Amino acid sequence: MTKTLGTASAEPGEMDTGRLEVGETRDGSPFGLPVAVLNGANPGKTLYVQAASDGDELNGVGVLQRLVPRLDPTELSGTILIVGIVNYHGFQVAEHRNPIDDTKMNRAYPGSESGTSSERIAHATFEAATRADLVLDLHQGSTSRMIDEARVRCGSRHRLHDECLELAKVFGCGYVLDQKGPNGQLARVAPDEGIPTVDPELGGCVGWDETSIRKGVEGIENVLTHYGFLPGRVDLEPQTRATGFEQYGAPSGGLVRIRKELGDRVSTGETLFEVTTPFGETKTEVTAGSDGILWRTRRLPQVATGEYVCSVGVDVDTY
Ligand SMILES: [Zn+2]
Repeated sequence: MTKTLGTASAEPGEMDTGRLEVGETRDGSPFGLPVAVLNGANPGKTLYVQAASDGDELNGVGVLQRLVPRLDPTELSGTILIVGIVNYHGFQVAEHRNPIDDTKMNRAYPGSESGTSSERIAHATFEAATRADLVLDLHQGSTSRMIDEARVRCGSRHRLHDECLELAKVFGCGYVLDQKGPNGQLARVAPDEGIPTVDPELGGCVGWDETSIRKGVEGIENVLTHYGFLPGRVDLEPQTRATGFEQYGAPSGGLVRIRKELGDRVSTGETLFEVTTPFGETKTEVTAGSDGILWRTRRLPQVATGEYVCSVGVDVDTY
């Protein structure tokens, strides 16, 4: 059976690329999101993958660039539908949000066919996502520094919680944040349609991070193998899971010195960071309010009072 996404159309054993048109740019030119369809020679499940829903999060695009040429549709069972760049307008100007309506794309799902720019893009990509049996929405820690993790966003009471957790474990980048997400996240609304979905957060940086991209490629290959798209089996590794996330801001202005490495265990009362003057004098020290794991930190050292410094994943276990 022919499989299509936008203008991409592939027969069994074939791959095609094209565009998923969503409207016109300000000069009246039609624009489309870059898409790919890999139609396996053998029947099987459908996987939907998207990247750059936040326009400055490029690691997911790096993953697709490396992964897609390695996949041979004649050896594939099932179908892979890919939207390579979701936040078209944000990507053009290397911004996180969609500059047309100043919206974070991952708050606009499931979107609307006749809505704002972000809602229309969300609607078009959600239509493709809901044709799948599994969904991966590739993100990263924006331009901050973050561990590589996968997020389960449906909430622990959701009927698909176990299946989403399993998908995160199969992806297998080592850490999982299992916390109900805000309204409008793809990883929160796609499970309502019965589709296990995770949001891999492939580290953080400006541009491409080699380690995170490699983990993303391995993660998708694990998913393809475990769910029968590719032959073989995956040895599932225990994942370190946090179910809470505590954010720390600077109590004063200056230059932040973070005392822990990403992934380090932190104990209640231990110093997380200090704020210093340009001359190296310590102004304030901030200690951890809970036990946990240093999960994410700002990239640049300079802070104003109240500015974000770091996050600690708390209520940590292994599954
Ligand atoms: Zn993101």
